[in-house]
Amino acid sequence: MAKHLITGGAGFIGSHLAEALVACGDEVQILDDLSTGQIANLDRIRDNPRLTVTVDTFANEPLLAELIDRCDAVFHLAATVGVMLIVQDPIRTIETNIRGTELVLKHASKKKKKVLIASTSEVYGKGAKIPLSEDDDMLLGPTAKARWSYACSKAVDEFLGLAYWKEKGLPVVIARLFNTVGPRQVGQYGMVMPRFVQQALAGGPITVYGDGRQSRCFAYVGDVVPALMRLMETAEAAGQVYNVGSDQEVTIAQLAEKVRAKVNPDIPIVNIPYDKAYEEGFEDLKRRVPDLARIKRAIGYAPRHSLDEILDILIADHRAKAAKPHPKKAAV
Ligand code: UDP
Repeated sequence: MAKHLITGGAGFIGSHLAEALVACGDEVQILDDLSTGQIANLDRIRDNPRLTVTVDTFANEPLLAELIDRCDAVFHLAATVGVMLIVQDPIRTIETNIRGTELVLKHASKKKKKVLIASTSEVYGKGAKIPLSEDDDMLLGPTAKARWSYACSKAVDEFLGLAYWKEKGLPVVIARLFNTVGPRQVGQYGMVMPRFVQQALAGGPITVYGDGRQSRCFAYVGDVVPALMRLMETAEAAGQVYNVGSDQEVTIAQLAEKVRAKVNPDIPIVNIPYDKAYEEGFEDLKRRVPDLARIKRAIGYAPRHSLDEILDILIADHRAKAAKPHPKKAAV
């Protein structure tokens, strides 16, 4: 039975990971400041004796050191995420993403605990190569555009993690997550899929930013989580960077059409200029498709859920949540 620390374990991906680890019989400690995570995400495992949750930040260093001391390995997922949040709150993005990783690596290194750092496909920046491979160049926009602070902060995390591996022999694996979706992901920080589903279920309109010709590949959280677990278990993954995601590409306009067709063909789809959606001069990425050859070789990974299956799961989940009576109302 292994013991894991998950920073950001009350978040969208972290809570799914916690459930999967607990289901395997492992012990899970969560450190989360609930800035974007929610305790309710852990409802299914809240009473499990193998789960402990600490609500605090990594800045409480003695606590972080103790939690790392008590575990065998650290999944470092705590980060500021969501393009909307990053544009609105760049100081928090930069500080949380860099300082958190610095502290996790510092304390993990003292005790030689393996660390998986959740990074992002944003680090490829505007790289137009299709598909994007782990050793491709990064092509980031200017510092005047807040969006790029996320990619930069995560790139620094990757550099630092790989430096700990090279200089101190600390086993660190970097998982570059492409757009991950599934139940519990919220739309309020900008993520497109939960936004479209919520908008459609509320009767529209579905808001497509720009002309909708930009594309993404959406991976189901239930495919991504086992990949993270396998990367953690695989000794040869240490010191490596892996793309994790799906390579099924869809334009945002097509995504809006699909959601509309599944929920209600009558609702409107509207285009909103980027300047209005984000900020003046916002730069979006045109395409982002991962090369999955490396992770396939390492752990036999292949995404299992198609876009249609993912949308069906998500729509059913949002419908079920909407149908649930509000807890306060139910108690009356
Ligand atoms: N997007 C959109 N409408 C929304 C939210 C997002 O058209 O209500 C677009 C966004 O501009 C981007 C794509 O959907 O082109 C994916 O956005 P998200 O924030 O989910 O992920 P990322 O940009 O990090 O890939």
